[in-house]
Amino acid sequence: MLFGAHVSSGGGITNAIGRAADLGCEALQIFTQSSRQWRATNHPEELLAAYRSEAAAAGIAYSLCHAIYFINLASTDPDVAAKSRLALATTVGVAARIGADTCFHVGSHLGAGLDATLANIVDGISPALDALGDDEWLLLENSAGAGDTIGRDIDELARVVAAVDHPRVGLCIDTCHIFVSGVDIREAAIVDSLLDDVDRRVGLHRLRALHVNDAAAKLGSNRDRHANMLEGEIGERMGVLLSHPALAHLPAILETPGPEGKGSDAEEVRRLRATHANGASARQLNGARDESDER
Ligand SMILES: [Zn+2]
Ligand SMILES: [Zn+2]
Repeated sequence: MLFGAHVSSGGGITNAIGRAADLGCEALQIFTQSSRQWRATNHPEELLAAYRSEAAAAGIAYSLCHAIYFINLASTDPDVAAKSRLALATTVGVAARIGADTCFHVGSHLGAGLDATLANIVDGISPALDALGDDEWLLLENSAGAGDTIGRDIDELARVVAAVDHPRVGLCIDTCHIFVSGVDIREAAIVDSLLDDVDRRVGLHRLRALHVNDAAAKLGSNRDRHANMLEGEIGERMGVLLSHPALAHLPAILETPGPEGKGSDAEEVRRLRATHANGASARQLNGARDESDER
């Protein structure tokens, strides 16, 4: 597993690399433009060109670009739809230059239902697919399930992935979002069935990244409130998901508030690693116990 965190790319996109390395990360996530503006950032050519080698030198093996939150590919408002298409394609274009995957929130059907807006979504993603690099992926993130947001469960994400029908469109699962949308990932059997579901409906090879966030809100509350590692409703049980053998190769990226609300710090990354390690030893112990039961 590659452990990482969302970091600022302020002052130049390559600045994110040093920030992530200082936290002890092997993976990072950035915004490629201000997350609260439609306007794209103009990245200097030399920084884009330098990114891959600087990341490799700093031990950053995986980068993920998070598209802005305003994007709503399901919108029937032509202005919002056009801006959404452009914003997503622009981020994917930057990601292609630096060798990063892109993740985004599909948006909200605003009461129309997923079926009624699926054609808009497919259409809205298409410029992003044109901008996608040869090795990079575009990842749909599951939503916390509030209001009419799309991606509240694997079924909705699977329908979008099937409709888009592209070999490098996949999923990023956010642990806080999946928990508040009612999947109790503290339980090993539920994690197993979640991943079975992903495998059957989407294909496990399309699950490319995890956002690891504890939840400040209750199971099934649909409230998107991230908590620091070990400080929310999931707590130490985050290790159940993190240590699942099917996820061993994935990047696990924190988007936690951090102790001062300024983002995940080195202690958060340390807790992430420790929670994974503890989950793995609990799993081994349980495995050994099961074997001795069989004897
Ligand atoms: Zn997100
Ligand atoms: Zn997330």
